[in-house]
Amino acid sequence: MPDLAARPEALLQTRLQQVRQRIRQACLEAGRPADSARLLAVSKTFDADIMRLARQLGVREFGESYLQEALPKIEALGRDDLVWHFIGPIQSNKTRDLAAHFDWVQGVDRIKIAQRLSDQRPDMLPPLSICVQVNISDEGSKSGCAPSEAVDLCRELATLPRLRLRGLMTIPAPESAGQDPRQAYAALRELHLQVKSALPNGSYDFDTISAGMSDDLEAAIAEGSTLVRVGSALFGER
Ligand SMILES: *Cc1c(COP(=O)(O)O)cnc(C)c1O
Repeated sequence: MPDLAARPEALLQTRLQQVRQRIRQACLEAGRPADSARLLAVSKTFDADIMRLARQLGVREFGESYLQEALPKIEALGRDDLVWHFIGPIQSNKTRDLAAHFDWVQGVDRIKIAQRLSDQRPDMLPPLSICVQVNISDEGSKSGCAPSEAVDLCRELATLPRLRLRGLMTIPAPESAGQDPRQAYAALRELHLQVKSALPNGSYDFDTISAGMSDDLEAAIAEGSTLVRVGSALFGER
């Protein structure tokens, strides 16, 4: 297929079909409705042109990891029919822009950041959807709160007026580190249940498990993921 490189839309279309098929298949194998896990297209390092193609092919949710890179892309594609997720590490001095330009922020792992996001969320926007990031494989170097801290953090966060606590996210230790991602995802699922039962009754939209990437989305869906974050399997190697 020598013409693929010259026709990025054909390549993207093929990859998107493959990824959607993997998601459907994994859902069915887990005994879930085929559409019970959503696709978050992770577009970091890829430009607005390829993202426009993805939008033409029906992608509606994009994940970005670097604020400075994301802002011009949000500007270029607009926000009307798209949902923008920030999935990168969060520094305090970036919270104002995150609160103003994104629909979801997934990497929240301490109350100070949550408080700033709530305070800085512009009044004319709906509350900002939040996933608390959990360091489920307990690696010293990664961001995310400790599993033992998740309940308290979520209970506190759920009281902030301009945030909407939606669920938990994790990035497990890589398989190359000798860890089984499915075990990590199983632990995240357990923790999600535990947090949900600890939240006040009104928190009915604590409905998200953000787990699974290009290489392991099947394992994540088998353990209850509702949102898979897929980059390279869609857009190619970074
Ligand atoms: C880059 C990134 C992804 C996508 O990873 P792929 O392996 O390219 O699918 C998912 N989640 C987070 C938090 C990321 O930073």
